[in-house]
Amino acid sequence: MKRIHCQTEYCVNCHLCALACIAAHSESQDLLKAMTREDPKPVARMWVEEKYPVSMAVQCHHCQDPKCVESCIAGALYKNEQGVVLLHEEMCVGCGTCQAACPYGAPKLITLDGRRRALKCDLCQGREVPACVEACPNLALTYEEGR
Ligand code: SF4
Ligand code: SF4
Ligand code: SF4
Repeated sequence: MKRIHCQTEYCVNCHLCALACIAAHSESQDLLKAMTREDPKPVARMWVEEKYPVSMAVQCHHCQDPKCVESCIAGALYKNEQGVVLLHEEMCVGCGTCQAACPYGAPKLITLDGRRRALKCDLCQGREVPACVEACPNLALTYEEGR
């Protein structure tokens, strides 16, 4: 299956990938409308790790043997038939075990509407290419098979 990869030598720490992720996970699919009119505001499922002078986008790698799925105490994480690791958000109890078990620390923990919960990259289900990959101005992000 295809996965997202970040080439750190091309990442310029612009965060456009994270903004595209927010827009792709909003009701309106429009960043400005999402941030000004939607409640709750959509949140990115990935982030940019910054250790000056290096930066890199961090997304789920959709591991073949996902430690997050194995560790989830609520059975909220699963791998679909295409190999994409997904989260039943309504089942998540926000314990953070998945983040601790993930070798990349990929799941994000947030508090939304007073409830702590995890969020993770879903490879933008329904889109051919994930929004972050499309948005990267320096081609630091690739979406390809077999890495
Ligand atoms: S959009 Fe590309 S260059 Fe900008 S922070 Fe994200 S990965 Fe790095
Ligand atoms: S959240 Fe982490 S452990 Fe789970 S599939 Fe993604 S990269 Fe692998
Ligand atoms: S935070 Fe949610 S998804 Fe992660 S292990 Fe706990 S219940 Fe499962």
